[in-house]
Amino acid sequence: MTDTAPIAAIATAPGMGAIGVVRVSGPNLATLIGSLIGAPLKPRQAVLARFRDAAGEVLDVGLALYFPAPHSYTGEDVLELQAHGGPVVLHLLLKRCLELGARPAQPGEFTQRAYLNDKLDLAQAEGVADLISAATVEAARGALRSLQGVFSQEVERLVRQLIELRALVEATLDFPEEEIEVLRQAAFGERVEVVLGYLDRVLSASQKGRLIRDGLQVVLVGRPNVGKSSLINKLVNEDVAIVTDIPGTTRDTIRQTIDIAGIPVHLVDTAGLRDPGDPIERIGIERSWSAIRGADLLVVIQEAVREEEDPAFMTEFPSDLPRIVVLNKADLIGGVKASGLRDGSERIWVSAKTGAGLDLLRDAIRERAGWSSPGEGFFMARQRHLEALERAKGYLANAREKGRGLEILAEELRLAQEAVSSITGEFTSDDLLGEIFARFCIGK
Ligand code: GDP
Repeated sequence: MTDTAPIAAIATAPGMGAIGVVRVSGPNLATLIGSLIGAPLKPRQAVLARFRDAAGEVLDVGLALYFPAPHSYTGEDVLELQAHGGPVVLHLLLKRCLELGARPAQPGEFTQRAYLNDKLDLAQAEGVADLISAATVEAARGALRSLQGVFSQEVERLVRQLIELRALVEATLDFPEEEIEVLRQAAFGERVEVVLGYLDRVLSASQKGRLIRDGLQVVLVGRPNVGKSSLINKLVNEDVAIVTDIPGTTRDTIRQTIDIAGIPVHLVDTAGLRDPGDPIERIGIERSWSAIRGADLLVVIQEAVREEEDPAFMTEFPSDLPRIVVLNKADLIGGVKASGLRDGSERIWVSAKTGAGLDLLRDAIRERAGWSSPGEGFFMARQRHLEALERAKGYLANAREKGRGLEILAEELRLAQEAVSSITGEFTSDDLLGEIFARFCIGK
């Protein structure tokens, strides 16, 4: 963590493009710039420059941008070279920067340095990664708000409230005889309630945000020929999310992501689950099952023309998994019928052929997700944030109990503050930091 050697990386995505960017960050880049470009650069001005190798040969001609410390993304000197966007040119440029003393950057290392140099807090840094990997417009908006510090501000506010409570208790520790009276006069109990209420609001906004970030796992099951592929294709063609290759959400044959009211909905197709086939296929099947075990919602597809028994493998689904029954091919029975409940499951008539009823299906999925209307009322939270808020809530709830010693009360409040502060990065272990930044892309 204390390694401040200059780092360099290709910051643009692999492949060919009009422009590619090589980025360098380090404590002092003046010498590197001199050798690479042959002249000093004016701060924050785009300059057309020749990038040269050790023998003075020109490697490429492009724009150079120099951001001297501390007014840069990382807080160090930063150099950005906008070159022609081909893999060979960019690798030559990167190699040249390495020759001049930089080392290859680890994933997320630029942002990690920004964090270490107090350019952003941990929740904001996570916002950077979440913005890049956002699967829907709503997710991108939420991530941008986190990046701009909206979530961090709420977290800081909570921390301040907890500090006030702590101060009250710590001050009382000096007057042990009158402790109860002092706390009562300061309306301590009511103040704890107020903070708990506020914590609950942040928690609920964060739970919404996690849904927008991580999406909803929807598993589709049905016998062959009920129109499962047709239905998936219809939904995907109309609603496909802007997902490409996000780590952990790689698109494969069994998984497609669509955008329903801003929620990335991951449709997991169970076609082929019945037949274990060869060993390789079995691995695929095992993977499907693990996706299914983490499902949020089950969509059972049947034909509207006949009542069907559930496929045999459905017994393997948890019985408490919410489910929607979809009766497809409603065009064959003269159109969609009104949705209704039967045996506790919602039944929705659709036609994959005409598209009728698909809006009802989307609404039903959205409602199951507990998502009413998109808007500003959420924070782009991760599981880590939710756990921290839950921990804080637990400590605070303990602090509310009567009859506990003042020292214990002080300790509960300290732990609550520590939990909330871990969201923005205070009291966060190096291991956890490493884990968070390792998931970034290289060059960010
Ligand atoms: P899967 O085996 O469940 O994936 O089913 P397919 O999507 O391959 O569809 C099976 C057959 O049903 C195909 O001939 C489709 O054209 C037809 N089909 C699918 N959906 C509909 C629908 O909504 N209406 C009608 N009339 N036919 C459909």
